[in-house]
Amino acid sequence: MATLPPLAADARAEIAVIGAGYTGLSAALHVACAGRDVLVLEAGEIGGGGSGLNGGQVIAGLKHDPEALEQLYGEQLGAQFAESSGAAPDLVFDLIRQHAIECDAVRTGWLQLAVSEGQLQPLERRARQWRARGADVAVVSEREAAELTGSRRYCGGWIDRRGGTVQPLAYLRGLARACLSHGARVYERSAAIRLTRRGEVWHVETARGTVSAQTVIVATDAYTDRTFDSLRRTVVVVPSIQVATAPLSPQLRAKILPRGQSVSDTQRILRYYRLDATGRFVLGTRGQFADIPIPAATPIHERAMTELYPELAGVAIEYRWGGFVAMTRDGVPHLHEPEPGLLAGLGYNGRGVAMATTLGRVLGRRALGEPAASLGFPLTPVRPLRLHSLSRVAARATIRYLQTRDALDRALRRSSGAPA
Ligand SMILES: Cc1cc2nc3c(=O)[nH]c(=O)nc-3n(C[C@H](O)[C@H](O)[C@H](O)COP(=O)(O)OP(=O)(O)OC[C@H]3O[C@@H](n4cnc5c(N)ncnc54)[C@H](O)[C@@H]3O)c2cc1C
Repeated sequence: MATLPPLAADARAEIAVIGAGYTGLSAALHVACAGRDVLVLEAGEIGGGGSGLNGGQVIAGLKHDPEALEQLYGEQLGAQFAESSGAAPDLVFDLIRQHAIECDAVRTGWLQLAVSEGQLQPLERRARQWRARGADVAVVSEREAAELTGSRRYCGGWIDRRGGTVQPLAYLRGLARACLSHGARVYERSAAIRLTRRGEVWHVETARGTVSAQTVIVATDAYTDRTFDSLRRTVVVVPSIQVATAPLSPQLRAKILPRGQSVSDTQRILRYYRLDATGRFVLGTRGQFADIPIPAATPIHERAMTELYPELAGVAIEYRWGGFVAMTRDGVPHLHEPEPGLLAGLGYNGRGVAMATTLGRVLGRRALGEPAASLGFPLTPVRPLRLHSLSRVAARATIRYLQTRDALDRALRRSSGAPA
């Protein structure tokens, strides 16, 4: 995709969007398709945030099960929230079709697999709850997990056929192209540096021009800077690092994930992986802050690959990269409206491909004037976390601690004769 120009003069728009990831571009596309005037400001280049760097797993649902959402938000709102999160992959694959986005989209399902017997029950319960709501999901036995993954590592789990995979940057660029073709203006290298309101009009200042708009949508997720300091302090940012091997041989491709699902497992520090369209094995897990954007070495990833698939020993790793994930205290993404005409959505807890696209559309609907009560998404106040300044230190220590506990568990399983 050709680079887009920076904003070079003052401009007016009905709706201004800050941040051109899935959230911002999905919001902008929704508004532009409704024939309204929208302008997007991106601080860097499209794809420099999580939406250009992620694992491409299109996952339905949130970390909370549907029944937990009903308990947290009440029967009606909880059920609507669960439903829209369950339908989030539909929106991704519909947009891809409607706007002819070429991004290696496949909908072969997502596997969530248990590394120990004790973790099977919650996964089975999750599958049962979604099935009761009509979702195309099933419990997977230990044997089926081995057949689907080609790894003997798992005790079983569940398959969610609503999920799939995309090439994440291609999907994002496709959304940007669709925005442009529906009349949205999108500017790169145009960081919002100040936001003020005069009367009913918001003014978003950038280095070379100010945008005046009735409504502003802040869609900056883990990359939220001090321009929106209260919002920045509502999430804890953690690093996630990925590696991609050279394209695998036909023999390895027939053995590893032969039916094309992607996988997340239930380690404390989870590992997620898939094969891409060129047959590269792509695996991600938490890393260290210093590893972003490009880690010097990835021993944890290399160990994980060969623990899962001993036959990957010796296969070259050709790419390493990382980005930041925004975690919320309650584990769900947040929709905020701190002042009239100011909206924000963030905090996908590592599940943003489908959910950010969905929350982007919710933000777009609200910007178009839909009543908050009919959005089916909880609208919450901006609540900065106490002691947020210590969150990096705490995240670093927690990641190290959980990695050590995972390693101990693996060693114990090995010593008991089970595959680690
Ligand atoms: C390594 C990694 C792997 C992941 N894997 C998966 C996965 O497999 N499946 C899944 O569902 N999710 C995954 N995620 C999470 C997912 O990528 C994110 O939740 C999602 O991309 C968030 O989208 P977003 O549009 O809200 O934010 P982003 O894509 O991060 O976009 C925010 C944008 O805002 C811009 N910005 C910030 N401040 C300003 C400013 N002041 N002015 C203008 N622009 C600004 C940034 O430059 C950035 O481009 C992963 C994330 C990472 C980092």
